Amino acid sequence: MDKELLAMLVCPLCQGKLKYDREAQELHCVYDGLAYPIEEGIPVMLPEAARPLDVDEKLPPSPGRTGEA
Ligand SMILES: [Zn+2]
Repeated sequence: MDKELLAMLVCPLCQGKLKYDREAQELHCVYDGLAYPIEEGIPVMLPEAARPLDVDEKLPPSPGRTGEA
């Protein structure tokens, strides 16, 4: 995956920066909780192609809720 290309990519929904998951070959938007697939080196930046991230892949909802478990 081209680093320069990756730096240009933003989430189509929130225009946020994406996190590249090399192992899964996905681009993660932690803000929307979506993972965009990379097919044959080409990121598929379509919300309808993305899968929802698992809960532990997302950012914590808000600070101040930790430590209650
Ligand atoms: Zn987003």
